[in-house]
Amino acid sequence: MQGLKANFHLVWLLVLLAGCAGTESPTTSPTPIVGRIGDVGLAPTPTLHSSDTAVARSAASEVSENDRPGGGRSLGDPYIPELGNTGYDAQQYTLKLALDPAVTHVTGTTTIQAIATIDALSQISLDFIGFEIGLVKVNGSAVSFSRANGKLIINLPQPLAAGTTFEVAIEYAGAPLREQSAYVGFIEALGLQYVDGKTIFVVAEPDGARYWFPANDHPRDKALFRFEVTVPAGLTVVANGRLITTQNNDTTSIFIWGHDRPMAPYLALVAVGPYERIDAVSPGGIPLRHYAFAESRADFEQAVAVTGEAIDWMSQLFGPYPFEEFGYVAAAVPGASLETQTMVLLSSTITGQRTAVHEMAHMWFGNWVSLDSWQEMWRNEGFATYVTMMWENRGDPEGLDLEVAGALAATAENDPQYPLGNPPPQYLFGYNTYFKGAAMVHALRREVGDDAFFTGLRAYFQRYGGRTASDADFQAVMEEAAAVPLDDFFAEWLD
Ligand SMILES: [Zn+2]
Repeated sequence: MQGLKANFHLVWLLVLLAGCAGTESPTTSPTPIVGRIGDVGLAPTPTLHSSDTAVARSAASEVSENDRPGGGRSLGDPYIPELGNTGYDAQQYTLKLALDPAVTHVTGTTTIQAIATIDALSQISLDFIGFEIGLVKVNGSAVSFSRANGKLIINLPQPLAAGTTFEVAIEYAGAPLREQSAYVGFIEALGLQYVDGKTIFVVAEPDGARYWFPANDHPRDKALFRFEVTVPAGLTVVANGRLITTQNNDTTSIFIWGHDRPMAPYLALVAVGPYERIDAVSPGGIPLRHYAFAESRADFEQAVAVTGEAIDWMSQLFGPYPFEEFGYVAAAVPGASLETQTMVLLSSTITGQRTAVHEMAHMWFGNWVSLDSWQEMWRNEGFATYVTMMWENRGDPEGLDLEVAGALAATAENDPQYPLGNPPPQYLFGYNTYFKGAAMVHALRREVGDDAFFTGLRAYFQRYGGRTASDADFQAVMEEAAAVPLDDFFAEWLD
């Protein structure tokens, strides 16, 4: 993400491969599955890896014992513990929505295919806030449900054994509830944003997916996505992945999008408006498609002009671009942009190419490899900021040194000092997270040398692509590449 205060870029992460870490496997072998939605089917998408499972279990055990049949109403992130559930692994979300920018009202059905991850699973919870809920079905049969503390709690018709696949469908309608996130003070409310009766878009990082669809709302449970969105005729719907088909009727149009790489729920996007589509291909062959507004198309095209060159450059440095297609969609986000996977939400109030490059870097840093805990935000924003500095100073190492030194010197003036590895909520997207984070990345590169630095990063994406990694995982990969211990280095910067 990139927001107002520090000219942050909201980088929305892309998840690349339909990688899969079997629910029981993890740390050592990421077993990526490569394939399209059709042939992947319900192969497990990345979820908890073993080092996290213990943490998740310990957090779950702190929740009331009554929650145990549901797997614990937490995915175990110590930083935002209210999110997620460990009792199941979401495989695919299908969001059927009817949206109209002129009417702040949603009619929707979210269908989730999931696999039970514990035995005797008799209840699940989804993160979901607001809306009137209609029928809730499990495997086609209506079931009872309740709501409490931001959770939609669904009773299963009979207990499921670990490994059992099931499908939940939730019908809902109404105006989205607008609440400010404790972590994103510069945005009034997360979830669906209606602008001037003309456009709609979504901003959901870090804890806002639950304001527009029911989800296991944590990066530790990534899934594939499909969007079937009905809008008034004449408008265009943009979402993650690929546009599969469009059906035009007399008064409405239906746009179907599919994303067949694992994605964290907060990176899901729908944008509605009078868009013009711009198609291109990077010199290296990556399909690009952008969606601009006619009235700001010239500025937009200037901002995204380096897309092809920059995405090929990043692919060389970090490993192949992990998703099907890439592009930007213009939106009237107030001073922020977001790295929504494969389709970056680019604020029409931020000009220049820096934000566009920052959000692109998040396709690797944050989207393909996601944070295991939100408190590790420095790894998302520090890297996206640093990669942007590298891009702007490519071929000029002294210029890069100077820029990093300048940013580091400015951190004391812009934020109170806080531990980079555990920022207070209101500073999750603070200046230090971005710029001290970038300085840490630069210092790490100097510490281990260029060869080990880039070898380590490529190994990191290969090993953890499609799922999450913790700071400890990242440190271990870099230690392997550098063949030196980095405990002191990480402790010095993060604690
Ligand atoms: Zn960012």
